[in-house]
Amino acid sequence: LQFWITSSGRQKGELTKADMLLVGDGGWLLEGKGKPSAETALHQVLYRKFDIGAVFHVHTIKSAWVSAHCGDAMILRGLEMIKGFDRWEPDAEAVVPVVENHHDIPRLAQAVEAAARSDIPAVLVRNHGIYAWGSTCAEARRHVEITEYLCEYSYLTMLMSARRPEAPSRS
Ligand SMILES: [Zn+2]
Repeated sequence: LQFWITSSGRQKGELTKADMLLVGDGGWLLEGKGKPSAETALHQVLYRKFDIGAVFHVHTIKSAWVSAHCGDAMILRGLEMIKGFDRWEPDAEAVVPVVENHHDIPRLAQAVEAAARSDIPAVLVRNHGIYAWGSTCAEARRHVEITEYLCEYSYLTMLMSARRPEAPSRS
């Protein structure tokens, strides 16, 4: 297994070709200058588990917040945007797994590998961010955007239900 990954500690908005590193099994650097991302092992388990061409990882506030406030999955049903996961049933359910954020990377990689489902191309890492994948970079990016949209929707749903006033009692 060989794949390209960004160099650790680079500004994500300013990445160039020179910041891409080719790594092999075990995360060994094969080509390029720099240090492969600390989370290379997480990308590796996903490339091994599925027949995919790209894995993207982002740290967003909403994904960190929502993953901290739900159980072992973020579940949404009937939203038009779920079609972005190639789920076309009218009442499609998106079950995005949530895994604990272990600082021990091999342990975190194991948790992501175990939780990743073939029908939903994304995993949330609690208080951390999103892993999403696809057959191409464009598809992986779309899956990141759909997941972030679902996180935003979940966040607003939780916020609104927390603010809903108590029904007046009939005494
Ligand atoms: Zn991360």
